[in-house]
Amino acid sequence: MTFNELKLIPEILKALTKENYTTPTPIQEQSIPAVLAGKDLLGCAQTGTGKTAAFSLPVIQLLSQQPSKSGSHRRVRSLILTPTRELALQIAENIEAYSQFLSLRCTAIVGGVSQKAQEQALKQGADIVIATPGRLIDLINQKHIDLQHVQILVLDEADRMLDMGFIHDVKKIIAKMPSKRQTLFFSATMPPEIAQMVKTLLVNPVKVEI
Ligand code: AMP
Repeated sequence: MTFNELKLIPEILKALTKENYTTPTPIQEQSIPAVLAGKDLLGCAQTGTGKTAAFSLPVIQLLSQQPSKSGSHRRVRSLILTPTRELALQIAENIEAYSQFLSLRCTAIVGGVSQKAQEQALKQGADIVIATPGRLIDLINQKHIDLQHVQILVLDEADRMLDMGFIHDVKKIIAKMPSKRQTLFFSATMPPEIAQMVKTLLVNPVKVEI
């Protein structure tokens, strides 16, 4: 299997070549076609499996195929929630690399650093936001971010967000976005609370297990 066979667009294929990715990993092979087809996804996978590209590549492709508003009129069309600052920054770095030949904008919203620069980045417009729940809640409460136009939600490492006590925040965040959307849900384990969330958030999901 090649990335080309996964029907990725030339701009993404070029970026992958530049990053020296030659062959998709199993989770990428299974996830990319399902996400491109607009389906919800339930992925049981650990870090190190290529999970980030498995959700990022199709999200980038879907967004790039829609007309995007320019500059500060851009709206957040995809939100990626992840438990830690390190993961959020890593995902943002990967998305920057994968979308280097496209004109999408992404920004990371994480705690532990000044909020001002993040407010500024949001003001300038972002298509994709990668966030940790705590800081995102602050920015939502202060009306610095509007999630009304989110079309694709990604929950990364949901079980870790539960362990870290973020589930209440995550549910509050999800309540701020349209219920008609595509949801990609990743969790290495399936404790009852996570299984319950899967039931309420996903519609006929494609299941991918590595
Ligand atoms: P992840 O599981 O998303 O944290 O990815 C683990 C590492 O594998 C990261 O450094 C990625 O850049 C890299 N990676 C992901 N997919 C591929 C691929 N298809 N070919 C080569 N490297 C990859």
